[in-house]
Parts: sequence; C-alpha cells; structure tokens
Amino acid sequence: MKKMSTFIFFLIAGIGLIALSAMTGNPGGRGQSQPSTQWGIHDMNRPQPPVVDPGPAGPPAPPPSDAVVLFDGKDLSQWTNEKGEPTKWRVEKGYMEVVAKTGSILTKKGFGDCQLHIEWSMPLAAEGESQERGNSGVFLMNTYEVQVLDCYENTTYADGMTASVYGQHPPLVNACRKPGEWQAFDIIFTRPLFDKDGKVTQPARMTVFHNGILVHDNVTLSGPTAHKARPPYKVHEDKLPLSLQDHGNPVRYRNIWIREL
Ligand code: MG
Repeated sequence: MKKMSTFIFFLIAGIGLIALSAMTGNPGGRGQSQPSTQWGIHDMNRPQPPVVDPGPAGPPAPPPSDAVVLFDGKDLSQWTNEKGEPTKWRVEKGYMEVVAKTGSILTKKGFGDCQLHIEWSMPLAAEGESQERGNSGVFLMNTYEVQVLDCYENTTYADGMTASVYGQHPPLVNACRKPGEWQAFDIIFTRPLFDKDGKVTQPARMTVFHNGILVHDNVTLSGPTAHKARPPYKVHEDKLPLSLQDHGNPVRYRNIWIREL
C-alpha cells in the first residue's frame, strides 16, 4: 500500500512538472525564465531582469581543438556579405568592426546544432537610446537572433535587450559590462526539426551564457525571431550560415569559434 501511494505521489508530481514546463516553454530549465506567451511582443511592462556585475573581462577564451575557428582576429576569409561577396567590415588590431550600411555578414559554412563562442564590445562613446545604442546581433542559422546591444545603463523592452532571444525571451539577468570592455556569449543551440510535410516536430532551443553567467536555460523558440512579430516556423535546411547583424552601429567582434554538435 505504501509503495502504491509513493508511486501515485511521484506520478502526480511528474505530471505537475510537465505541465509547468509546457507553460513556461522551458523544458528542464529553471523556473524563473519568463514565459514568452504571457507577454505581447516588445511589451514595455514586461519586467526588466535584475542587473548582475559579471566582473572584469578575462583574456580571449582559446578555441578547443575540435572547434571551427570563424574569426581569429586576422581576416574575414570565412565570411561574406548578404550577396555572397567579400564583406566590407573593418579588421584591425585583432577585431572586426561593423561598417554601417555594408550589410550583415554570413559564414561561408553552414551549421545546425552547435556550441558557439563569440566576443564583442560596444562602441565608445555610448550614443543613442534603447535599441539605437550598440545594436547588432548573432543569428543562429541566419534566423534566430541573440541580441547584441549596449544595455549598460540603457533601458529597452525586456525581450529586446542584450542577450535576449529577440522578441521572445528576456535574459534571466542583465550581465552587461561597460561600453569598450570585451564581453562574451556562449550559446548552445539545438536546431528545429521538421517532418516531411514541413510540420515542426521539435522547436529550436537555446542555452546562453553572457559573460559566463547563465541567461537562458534551454528555452524553446516559438519560431524565427523578428521585429514586432512572432512569425511561425518555416522549413529550412539542416545547416545554415551563422550571421552577424549590421544595425548601423560600430560594434566589434573577436575570437569567434564554433563546435558542431
Ligand atoms: Mg539586433
């Protein structure tokens, strides 16, 4: 009898946990992730994540031996512009810098499931407000954006701030360093899966660390990221380029490497 009641207890607890995961869109993740479905897109009332000081930047994280190095500070040979031509972004002193109006850049190679390391820094001086300060972005599969923005003493809508899964998930905390200091994202990305009819059988998921601090714990994406919209999934290839956004601000990147999973 005792065994039976223990079994029923765990059964009910299990069902409860599954229901909670479904509600938060965060299977197996921490409970504090804000469910994207409860808030309209770019809702200014959506709570701002607490500020956490990540401490000073360390030296660049060396790429592991099985990583594909996408940028080692020397050249942009692994990248093209949106037309497949050489990009006009600037390379100097071990970093690349967005050159406004030259367009976003894409890797020549495609990637699906991956672990990505990328370092970036915000322009000095800090100019512009909200989305106009240091805007760029890291697009997994050229489709799913982790927002790059200067949110050090700069407020914007929570689902569009630094390290947000743009328009869907605010980060758990605001771990921004000051403009001019190097920052890092470590992203674990699981691509969406589609069946032969184009139906989503498994949505995309992301785990993200900003400056070494967990900001997304295996969150589920509702579809491609977009401005003022949450469009549904569209079937795409198993592997697509990683892209970095030209949003008109001279954001810098260095030490970019990726491990295919
Ligand atoms: Mg952006």
